[in-house]
Parts: sequence; structure tokens; C-alpha cells
Amino acid sequence: MHEVSICTAIAKIAHKVAAGRPVERVRVDVGHLRQVVPDTLRHSWEMVVFGTPLDGVPLEVREVPAVVECRRCRSLTRLDDPIFRCAACGSNETDVISGNELFVTSLDLTVDAS
Ligand SMILES: [Zn+2]
Repeated sequence: MHEVSICTAIAKIAHKVAAGRPVERVRVDVGHLRQVVPDTLRHSWEMVVFGTPLDGVPLEVREVPAVVECRRCRSLTRLDDPIFRCAACGSNETDVISGNELFVTSLDLTVDAS
């Protein structure tokens, strides 16, 4: 399953960055064009981290809208469906500006101040 492999990758990154420190929260940016359902991603996350040091750590999913720029008129169009067409002139010669993101944006770590 798509979401499970994404969560496995996120967990790997979180493990690496945390380097043994307790993680309180993991934040990810997911572009609209990735066709990922945030709820499904969070469910998969719970499954993937079950019984690992990341068990119980919430995954915060932020959706990044898909935006294309028209090569003809330079208009920006926000896409709800993956149909790459300029809303201003109808051209389908477009460049993707955003929507392909899949990033771990931050980790909240517990700092032991003792
Ligand atoms: Zn256009």
C-alpha cells in the first residue's frame, strides 16, 4: 500500500533525525498531486510505528495545494483534480508550481534538561 511505504520512509527519517531522543510530534507536507488521503496516512503511521520508539507519536499532515503556471499567459491555477489546464486561457501547457511535495518538515523532540 502506497501510504504504508510513505510512512515507513517518514519513520526512518524521524529515527535518524531524533538519534535516540524522544519525539513528541512529526510534521509532514504532502502535495495534493500525491493523491494521499491524510486520514489514511495517519492510520498507516499508527500501524507502521506500533511497537517502535515512535509508537504514540502524532503525525501532523499539512496538505499543499496543487498549483500550475500557464506557459502562455502566466496565470496561476489551483487544481482540485489532476487536470493540468490553465483556468484563464484554457491552455494545457502548464508547469507545476506546487503539489508534488512530500517532506518531513519538522520533528518536536523532548529535550532532557536535567
Ligand atoms: Zn493561460
